[in-house]
Amino acid sequence: MSNIFETLESEVRTYSRSWPVVFTHASGATQTDENGREYLDFFSGAGALNYGHNNPVLTAPLLEYLASGAVVHSLDMMTPAKREFLETFQELILKPRHLDYKVMFPGPTGTNTVEAALKLARKVTGRQHILSFTNAFHGMTLGALSVTGNSLKRKGAGIPLTNSSKIPYDDYFDGTTADFMWLERILDDSGSGVDKPAAVIVETVQGEGGLRAARTEWLRSLSALLKRHEILLIVDDVQAGCGRTGTFFSFEEAGIEPDIVCVSKSISGYGLPMALTLFHPELDVWEPGEHNGTFRGNNPAFVTATAALRAYWADDKFEKQLAGTIATLHTGLEKIAGSVEGAGVRGRGLLAGVIFKDLEIASKVAAEAFANGLLVETSGPEDEVVKIMPPLNVTDEQLARGLEILAAAVRTAVESSTLAHA
Ligand code: PMP
Repeated sequence: MSNIFETLESEVRTYSRSWPVVFTHASGATQTDENGREYLDFFSGAGALNYGHNNPVLTAPLLEYLASGAVVHSLDMMTPAKREFLETFQELILKPRHLDYKVMFPGPTGTNTVEAALKLARKVTGRQHILSFTNAFHGMTLGALSVTGNSLKRKGAGIPLTNSSKIPYDDYFDGTTADFMWLERILDDSGSGVDKPAAVIVETVQGEGGLRAARTEWLRSLSALLKRHEILLIVDDVQAGCGRTGTFFSFEEAGIEPDIVCVSKSISGYGLPMALTLFHPELDVWEPGEHNGTFRGNNPAFVTATAALRAYWADDKFEKQLAGTIATLHTGLEKIAGSVEGAGVRGRGLLAGVIFKDLEIASKVAAEAFANGLLVETSGPEDEVVKIMPPLNVTDEQLARGLEILAAAVRTAVESSTLAHA
């Protein structure tokens, strides 16, 4: 059946191919399609909907703001909405964590904050080279793409992606080689032929690249090594941040303080475009206007961001509840992985999934889950991991139901793959 999405919209679309229905309504962890069918959404807008769809706690101040005649678009002009966001972010997020960061609004997307971070690192150090990790994902604009691993995405650039090199992520060699030693060695060896980089950019959990999660001790060693060599550490917390791994920033558990932090996706809490680039004050060497962008002042996003911080991060109640949800998810995933030979759990917090020995299974699981009313996507260069990312405030009942659908989908996918290979 041809429709306007297929006839007019570009071939580049992806999610609409995996989930070929028209979604009309959404609430919390559910979405409803045009035919009235409800789906459990364990995809959460690729991490942009950590507090669920249309969360009423955020809808109310948003509607009030829009109805009040207050400024909606403001580039980087000052508005009360921006003031409140900055004050709240300082009080509820930075201060309690003893983090000393300036806040830059780089333009509203994840790739925007990554571009700003890379540019700033180069400007501060006067060095060009950036190191990033195997299977990293940092965005689709040229700078971010140059530090991204996926070959299909890199090819899309159409030009050489230069001034960056890849280094092995934690456990890249599945424990057979101490991968971290490699970086340590080349930085210490003046004959290694590797130019001293401006920065290393890392995701603490590789959201798109297969859900590998770096160990806390690995992150700590990385941070210490880079400090010793005066190389900046950029943590890309676009997907893993805003509570996804159980703490507001994903690097808190490791006890490190990156020089630069990229935040986007769920910072507005409502799915409204917004991004931050955070950096230590001494790195704030920008000239006024040296990096700009029309959509840096999305006031409705500031309003929902402030409301989300106040509702969920004013004390440790939400974090405690989140710890229980994370434990339940991981118990469920371990059980599912344990039922399939060679399968294993990947990820951390509510950014987790299952990898199968047969690389085709994860896509089959996602398709089967959709047929049974559960939205989950895949992750990894071969789509080899089925990725489970419910909203952080998913209810126990929804989580249990989602895990049940997932377990059944895994059984069906494994059976069909066994038959296909028999
Ligand atoms: N960094 C990471 C870690 C991401 O997961 C993503 C998006 N998946 C991006 C950057 C890019 O964000 P955006 O799509 O908003 O440009």
